[in-house]
Amino acid sequence: MSLSQLARTIHESVTLKLNQTAALLREKGEPVIHLGGGEPKSKTPLDAIVSCTAVLNSGDIKYTPPDGIPTLKKAIIRYTEEYYGRAVRPENVVASCGAKQAIMAALIAILDPKDEVIFPAPYWVSYPEMVKLAGGVPVAVKPEDGTFYPTVKEIADCIGSYTKAVILNSPNNPSGVMYSRDFIAEMVDLCAKKSIYLIMDDTYNRLVFDGKSPINCYDFSKEDIDASKLVVINCVSKMYAMTGFRIGWAVGSRELLGAMATIQSQQTSGPATPSQWAAVGALNGVQNSIEALRMTLENNRNIMLDHLLAFPGIRVTKPEGAFYCFPDFSNYEKSSQKLAEFLLNKVRVVTVPGKEFGMEGHLRISFCGAAKEITEGIERIRWALDPASPNELYLGDRRLVRDWM
Ligand code: PMP
Repeated sequence: MSLSQLARTIHESVTLKLNQTAALLREKGEPVIHLGGGEPKSKTPLDAIVSCTAVLNSGDIKYTPPDGIPTLKKAIIRYTEEYYGRAVRPENVVASCGAKQAIMAALIAILDPKDEVIFPAPYWVSYPEMVKLAGGVPVAVKPEDGTFYPTVKEIADCIGSYTKAVILNSPNNPSGVMYSRDFIAEMVDLCAKKSIYLIMDDTYNRLVFDGKSPINCYDFSKEDIDASKLVVINCVSKMYAMTGFRIGWAVGSRELLGAMATIQSQQTSGPATPSQWAAVGALNGVQNSIEALRMTLENNRNIMLDHLLAFPGIRVTKPEGAFYCFPDFSNYEKSSQKLAEFLLNKVRVVTVPGKEFGMEGHLRISFCGAAKEITEGIERIRWALDPASPNELYLGDRRLVRDWM
């Protein structure tokens, strides 16, 4: 059997793989705590279910336009007006199969072979692979000062003649940090001046803590949307806890979005019809589920932080949004892969190796689960690593003895 060069260079999604591993272990009755996940526990908003069920009950479920049903586009336009203060037209909007497809279609639409796409590290695991799938070259920029906040200069220094786009994700997966308003403003300005695309991955935009307000990149863009290379990506996956529906969208210039619609028309056709109607329900319905989720996450963040800050030897940056924390465990183990495997094997806690996000020595720990799981998960990790912990631990009625120190 021979596979293409491309197939051989693309890595599978580690996070999705870890979900499978955790599910298999749980099926075998293992007391697994999954701190590696990327989806909120809350249920789909009722308005989404009602809207989706209505179309299912009609039995009339057919192909839709490749860029989404007009009703969904209308809901996205209204959302963009309300949360971004921008009036856009249907030609400026494409609904996709998740934010993932929206980003992928944008990359296919803008990249020629060898073109480069810059993004700060740590980065969402899929960016490098998506850029490669679209024929481009990923360029990760690691902040020199060891923080998770790149400077505009660090990014500007990487812009060359092959640079076609920058992707920014804030609040960030995996670090949870939120880039400052000044940073976003300067990046919008820099990309406009250099005439390169700025893809704002706003997947977690409204999930921000400590009284902060979501940052709206359009506040800093004076250009007409059709002349602008600013592309804003959103989805119902995280903020509306609707990961399984697979609906995301992009907003941008008519030229780019037209190309993305054509690409989708040959790739997948329109997103699944019931899912589009579910997204209509979510976007047009009562919005209190987002605030409820945001508050739960902030509370979970506080619980996780309390436990992590009491954990000697690790370096923690306070997450300001999303549902991930990205502590540095390199004092205990330099290889994040080895450490994640060790924690799964010894104490049945799933974490994601930082290497996958472009930063060795770190682990991504999610706080989207139940508070009790977060507390117990961190305590198990601490028990496995901190020499000052007692020598025994009980997982339910299973007694563990620490024989590796
Ligand atoms: N961007 C980021 C930063 C993400 O974390 C994710 C999901 N983990 C996505 C995009 C993709 O979202 P969707 O599930 O809507 O494709």
